[in-house]
Amino acid sequence: MPEGDSVYKAAAKLRGALDGQTLTSTDFRVPAFATVDLSGQRVTSVIPRGKHLLIRVGDDSGGRGIPTGGVSEPGTGTSTGVTIHSHLKMEGVWKIYVPGERWRKPAYLARGVLSTATKVAVGFELGLLEVVPTASEDSIVGHLGPDLLGPDWDADQALSNLLSDPARPVALALLDQRNLAGLGNVYANELSFLRGVRPSTPIGEVTDPARLVALAHKAIMVNRDRPSRNLTGLPRGKPQYWVHGRRGDACLRCGTRIESEQLGTGPTDTRFAWWCPSCQK
Ligand SMILES: [Zn+2]
Repeated sequence: MPEGDSVYKAAAKLRGALDGQTLTSTDFRVPAFATVDLSGQRVTSVIPRGKHLLIRVGDDSGGRGIPTGGVSEPGTGTSTGVTIHSHLKMEGVWKIYVPGERWRKPAYLARGVLSTATKVAVGFELGLLEVVPTASEDSIVGHLGPDLLGPDWDADQALSNLLSDPARPVALALLDQRNLAGLGNVYANELSFLRGVRPSTPIGEVTDPARLVALAHKAIMVNRDRPSRNLTGLPRGKPQYWVHGRRGDACLRCGTRIESEQLGTGPTDTRFAWWCPSCQK
């Protein structure tokens, strides 16, 4: 799963290419939205929400109404704009090209193509792509907890959400986007290491959980502006993560071999966890 800092960077890239621009053509290569045509409409904003990307179109231009085909009922808002909602999931990425430029990924992987006079944004291998009325965005992102990288960040609310289910393993509690939005498996494991707790430790037993929340915010804010994610602070060529993906390797602090196991039981609640048996008691 993507981490919120990746989504934030993707939004910044898309904003630079599309914000305020008129779409000259759109191509949604998803059956339910294949007939949707947003050409002639203006992109009014590009917003990351947790791990979701929202591209709002036509909101302040009078719009052309809500496209038909697989679109949910509009909410109670009066907006006529639509939102192109994408989720990167495992492999998804948005690339920006100039018109006529050769794509550096195979065309069959493209799920959405948004063109302006000067740029072409191509969404490859998106886990999800849909066009919904902007007025019903809440049905997509309304369930999210405070966004670590959003204007609504609220550490107290995030803490309260996390502690609402004290028996939940800390890594799974951090991954639950309803508690706080933006963390993926990298942060869930790295934050557990940095606070000296195993990913499987019940969140209710973590000492000073407010510090865990503060550290989550600090770590993702720092990495938001870095070209590549780095939790160790070590230079390029050295490990950028303390434990994530390092099963069998030596702990960078104490030399003990990193261990890993599957965490959680359900199909939606199963993740891999890594930890140092010595640093994380
Ligand atoms: Zn260690």
